[in-house]
Amino acid sequence: MGKLIYMDHAATTAVRPEVLDAMLPYFTEKFGNPSGVYTFASRNKDVINVARDIIADSLGAKPEEIYFTGGGSESDNWALKAVAEAFQDKGKHIITTRIEHHAILHTCQYLEKRGFDVTYLDVDEKGMVDPDRLESAIRPDTILISVMAANNEIGTIEPISRIGAIAHEHGILFHTDAVQAYGQIPLDVNAMNIDMLSSSGHKLNGPKGIGFLYIRSGIKLGSFIHGGQQERGRRAGTENVPGIVGVGKAAELAMLSMEDRMKQETDIRDHMIHRILSEIPYSRLNGHDKDRLPNNVNVSFQFVEGETILIMLDMAGICASAGSACTSGSVDPSHVLTAIGLPKEISHGAVRLTLGYENTMDEADAVVDNLKRIVENLRKMSPAYQDFARRNM
Ligand SMILES: *Cc1c(COP(=O)(O)O)cnc(C)c1O
Repeated sequence: MGKLIYMDHAATTAVRPEVLDAMLPYFTEKFGNPSGVYTFASRNKDVINVARDIIADSLGAKPEEIYFTGGGSESDNWALKAVAEAFQDKGKHIITTRIEHHAILHTCQYLEKRGFDVTYLDVDEKGMVDPDRLESAIRPDTILISVMAANNEIGTIEPISRIGAIAHEHGILFHTDAVQAYGQIPLDVNAMNIDMLSSSGHKLNGPKGIGFLYIRSGIKLGSFIHGGQQERGRRAGTENVPGIVGVGKAAELAMLSMEDRMKQETDIRDHMIHRILSEIPYSRLNGHDKDRLPNNVNVSFQFVEGETILIMLDMAGICASAGSACTSGSVDPSHVLTAIGLPKEISHGAVRLTLGYENTMDEADAVVDNLKRIVENLRKMSPAYQDFARRNM
């Protein structure tokens, strides 16, 4: 078997060598606790603030608006739970969408059990939230709107600028889960009227277990972790210095390379989509054809199971995902594919291929060649397909 072809970057990415190099000294010789008064330790406070400056800069935010967390899930939990707690006297209504990551959906369910009322907006067949529909869901007791910047399964980029503007016209806070979007497409918290934004290191070639939450200054939210004075007293605990250095470096590199990477990934993405749709019969692109993350290919193949395709791809040394990694292993179809209206038999045949900066056009061709062969072979063994073919060809 040849070299591994990794096309599951929406699940996680490798730490870039430059990121690892930047992190390593902070595990060993530069291990000091940033809260220490002696220079050896307090230098690490400066190092954290360098990472904070880089990230603030990348979003048009102020450094004091960036809070380091333990990753995307923690950032999402903090945003929703803290707003609910701080604003419950104003109202108990939250608006989100059906296609959010489980870090949002399960937090909303938790809040519903505690007396909050959550509206889960439908999306159209391409996974788009309709801003007009969102506006009509607003009530006098709405305290928060949370809509993801881009979807992790189908790559649809949501109209968050418009949603942010609507939220602000109504005096409502706007949070966005930007875990898939940050570092992939340009984001600006002021131009887009974003009050809170979640991101995660390991989705942008940084380390796992570190992320950040942007909180617009002036928004009074409670602490997520009580304890020491780290992160302005809002997220206590000795800082994950190597992780923070890593996510800072990863963000810096992601911003520097964004333009070239967007072009390279879009070219490979469109080449794959074009070849798949034209060379494999009864295949379908899931998600938006234009407003789509540069690195996302999500396709369904009728009459075959996505999970089976994954096993065959694995045997060919190709890493991909069916629907969402979080739902694989369960029998339910992905909540995102269900929300865009796919019937079960088509959502079960979905495969997600997500690109990274190291993927090449040759790899893309190898993946499509393998998909062609695998889908053809599986269909030969599918009674449903044979039956269909007899009646339609
Ligand atoms: C991966 C992901 C998360 C969770 O981030 P972790 O750092 O793995 O906790 C949240 N939201 C979206 C959209 C994601 O893709």
